Amino acid sequence: MRIAMAQVWQETHTFSAMATGLEDFEKNGLYFGDEIPEKMRGVAEIGGFLAAAEEEVEEVELVPIIRAWAGSGGRVTGEALDFFEEKLVSELRESLPVDGVLLSLHGAAASDRVDDFEGYLLSAIRRVVGESVPVVVSLDHHANITHRIVESVNALVGYQTQPHDPFETGERAARALFAIVKEEITPTVGWQKIPMVAPADRGLTAEWPMKEWFDLARAMEEHPGVISVSNFPVQPWLDVAELGWATVVVTDNDQVLANQLAAELANKAWELREAFWAVRRVPPEDAIRQAVAAKEGPIVISDASDSVLSGAPGDGTCLLKEMLRQRITCTALLPMVDPQVVEAAIQAGPGSQITVLVGGKLDPVFGESVEVTGTVAGVAETGLTSTLSWGAAQMGRTVLLDVGSIRMMVSELRGVGGADPDAYRHFGVEPAEAQMAVVKMYFNFAGFRPIMKGTIMADCPGLSGWDLRQFKWEKAPRPVFPLDELPEWQATV
Ligand SMILES: [Zn+2]
Repeated sequence: MRIAMAQVWQETHTFSAMATGLEDFEKNGLYFGDEIPEKMRGVAEIGGFLAAAEEEVEEVELVPIIRAWAGSGGRVTGEALDFFEEKLVSELRESLPVDGVLLSLHGAAASDRVDDFEGYLLSAIRRVVGESVPVVVSLDHHANITHRIVESVNALVGYQTQPHDPFETGERAARALFAIVKEEITPTVGWQKIPMVAPADRGLTAEWPMKEWFDLARAMEEHPGVISVSNFPVQPWLDVAELGWATVVVTDNDQVLANQLAAELANKAWELREAFWAVRRVPPEDAIRQAVAAKEGPIVISDASDSVLSGAPGDGTCLLKEMLRQRITCTALLPMVDPQVVEAAIQAGPGSQITVLVGGKLDPVFGESVEVTGTVAGVAETGLTSTLSWGAAQMGRTVLLDVGSIRMMVSELRGVGGADPDAYRHFGVEPAEAQMAVVKMYFNFAGFRPIMKGTIMADCPGLSGWDLRQFKWEKAPRPVFPLDELPEWQATV
């Protein structure tokens, strides 16, 4: 069988002023044709597609079209959307005939022209291949499921875990598509939107309440005739018309069962809504005080409100200000995105002392720069790269600026928000010896887990702040929990 495959992956934070252009995809790996399997073997969804194709008993010829990944940020530019549409449409046309199309999308991307970025691209693909060629898509579980997405595909599957499982999800999507092509299954999709949003504080699928909700999905997959069950606790900072959590169930030609299970899973989320909304962040002054007082370090302080994996800029200064105010003397590792300071430090050179206004420049709502005087302790002029389960993320040119005992890693790009201990090791700093390390994300600091002695989630102001009522909502459907009073709701089959 001959299968076209592509990935166009971005998660949009519509309140962010940082537009996501084609250059942001280029920085993180924009690949075409045979370059895709070369670069992505074993990595993320495309790695999963490749692995499943190799395991498949029938001969599978994968036709790689495009791999574009840009992490999380502001809206994708119209120019980038046009580029992806043109590339997908023209390359798919040239690849015809194909027996199926396999796609990896995030599901919560929005462009400055089209809110439903994925729905738009999927309908363009559908127009090329027609109704008879199956299209299967893998999605991040923070996808915003829309009518257009569901109507354009034969099946869709979401990540099963937080931290995420893109490789395994790619394998599951590919296996479903192969089974459809071989006419072993006839996929039927049932789905439900749920009128709720929640911050990511309770996002870990290994912990209650997310665990209870995702465990129910896994249990439903044991049911005969069920192909896949997906929970979608949407990226919450997304002001679009169809915003909301969702459930999607794919069965083998059983619409009634698909609808029933999707409704049951949606009702379970609604039942747990108060628990999903329970936050556990501590004020910044307490976060720093507790980390200083800890018997053993490093304590990882998650600056969740400036999470680069949620679309925030990674240049928040709230914890820096608190460290300076408390005059800490222990070693603190702190990531900061600030291309101007990187340039100033490189111009001054290693060993120089510089006084600069750092951070707070990329977020016009919560951002506030701070003046610091520090010593340029290291320079990585060729740029640093960090790797997460999605692939490589670029930090760009990066410098280490020592401000007293604060070792500030200042980079041009966001990378993985300081969650890669090796980036510090590049400058000869051993993170295991620090008392605290700030990371600009909620949970995905796997690199720190073997060395850290505790975690604290700080409650700073920021674009990925937990209090969704602080944002100015214009398009999201209302009423929605918890922005509005909505005591009763039930999924209808
Ligand atoms: Zn996600």
